[in-house]
Amino acid sequence: MAKTVIVGGGIGGVQASQILSGDKDQEVVLITNEDFLPYWRMRLEEVVNGADPSSIEIHSQKWYEERNISLIRGEAQSIDRYNRLLFLKDGESVGYDNLIIAMGANPVRAPIDGPQREYVLRNMREAIELRSALEEGAKSVAVIGAGLLGLELASGLAKKYSVKATSIESQSSVLPKQLDPESGDFLKKRLKEIGVHIVLGSQARYAEAGRLLLDDGREIDADVLISSIGVRPDVALAREASLDIKRGIVVDENLRTSDKNIYAIGDVAELDGVSFSLAMFARDMATHVANEIISSSLSLYIPPLPSTILKVAGIDVAVFGEKDGFGHTFHKGNGRVKIFTEENTVVGAILIDAKEYLAKARNAIGKPFEKEVFE
Ligand SMILES: Cc1cc2nc3c(=O)[nH]c(=O)nc-3n(C[C@H](O)[C@H](O)[C@H](O)COP(=O)(O)OP(=O)(O)OC[C@H]3O[C@@H](n4cnc5c(N)ncnc54)[C@H](O)[C@@H]3O)c2cc1C
Repeated sequence: MAKTVIVGGGIGGVQASQILSGDKDQEVVLITNEDFLPYWRMRLEEVVNGADPSSIEIHSQKWYEERNISLIRGEAQSIDRYNRLLFLKDGESVGYDNLIIAMGANPVRAPIDGPQREYVLRNMREAIELRSALEEGAKSVAVIGAGLLGLELASGLAKKYSVKATSIESQSSVLPKQLDPESGDFLKKRLKEIGVHIVLGSQARYAEAGRLLLDDGREIDADVLISSIGVRPDVALAREASLDIKRGIVVDENLRTSDKNIYAIGDVAELDGVSFSLAMFARDMATHVANEIISSSLSLYIPPLPSTILKVAGIDVAVFGEKDGFGHTFHKGNGRVKIFTEENTVVGAILIDAKEYLAKARNAIGKPFEKEVFE
C-alpha cells in the first residue's frame, strides 16, 4: 500500500483525498491546522452574514471515516525529505511515499498606520471574528481593495448589515485583475447606481476608531476596517524543506516540486510563473496529481481556461481568457459584452449583465471572431 500525506484540508486537499481514497491501494492522510472540518472557503461570507459554520462544511466527519481518510488536526512544520517524514508542531511525525502540499495562501494586509484593527477574511476563525465586530453595532465598513472578494464583501455587507460600505482601491478601476479599465469603469457606474461607494486611485494611510484617512486627504467612515488586497502563497513549509520557491512553490509540468515525491497544488503552487488563486484550479490540480499518484505515471498538466463568473451586488460579471488584444464592445440593454481578439482569433471575453451570451462567449474562445454572433 502506498501512503499519501496531504498538508492542508482546503479545497484542493479535500479533492485530492477524495480521489486517492477511491483507490484501494492508497492510504490517505489529510492534515488540517484549522479547528473546523474542511469547508468551502469561497462561502465564508455566509458565515460573516450569520450562517452556522457547519453549513459550509464540504463533507461530514462520517464521510472521511467511511473512506478511511485519516483526518489529522495539526500544523505541519518540517519535512525530513531523506527519510520521507513530515513533522507536526506537536512533535508527532507521519511517514509518506508521496506528499501533497495544499497549504493555500495567506491574506496580505494593507500597510495602514493607527490603532484601528484591520480584519481579513481567509478562514473560518476570521469570518467569526468579523461577524462579531459587525454585530457590535457597526454603521460603516471600509474595504481596502476593489478586487473580486473586496467588492463582494462591500456590497454583501451593505445589504446584510445595512452599513455604509465603501470600497477603496489604489488602482484606477474596479476588479483591476479581471477587467480591462474600460469594463471596470462600466461596472463602477453600475455599482454606483445601486449605492456601493467606490473610491479609486487612493491609498489608505491611517485608521482610528470610526474613520479611515486616505493619502489624498479624504476621510472615510469606517467602524469596521477590512483588508482585501490579495494573498501570498504559504511557502513556509516548502522554504524550511529547501524546495524551490519563488512567489509560490515552483512546480513542473507534472505539478511536482523540486523533490519528485512532493507535489504542490492550488493557491500555494506556482506553475510557469503563475499562482492561480482560484478554487477551480485547486480542484483541477488536485485531481491531476491524485490521478498521477494512483496510476504511478506522470502526465502533462494543462490548466483549464481561466474563467470567473460572479455576482457583484446583483450584477453578473463573467470573465474568460485574456483581457489583452483588440476589444470589440456590444451594448446589451443595461449590460454589455466585450470580446478580445488577437489576429482575429477570440482570446477572451468580459460580460457584464449579459449572461445570455455566456455560452456563445465561452464557445468563441480560440476560434475566428464572428461579429454577427454577438450583435
Ligand atoms: C472569502 C473568499 C471568497 C472566495 N471566492 C472565490 C470564488 O468565488 N471563486 C474562486 O474560484 N475562488 C474564490 N476564493 C479563492 C479560493 O477559496 C481559493 O482559491 C481556494 O480555497 C484555494 O484552495 P487550496 O486548496 O489551494 O487552499 P485553501 O482552500 O486555502 O486551503 C489551505 C488549507 O491549508 C491549511 N494549512 C496551511 N498551512 C498548514 C500547515 N502548516 N499545516 C496544516 N494545514 C495547513 C490552511 O489553514 C487551509 O485550511 C475565495 C476565497 C475567499 C477567502
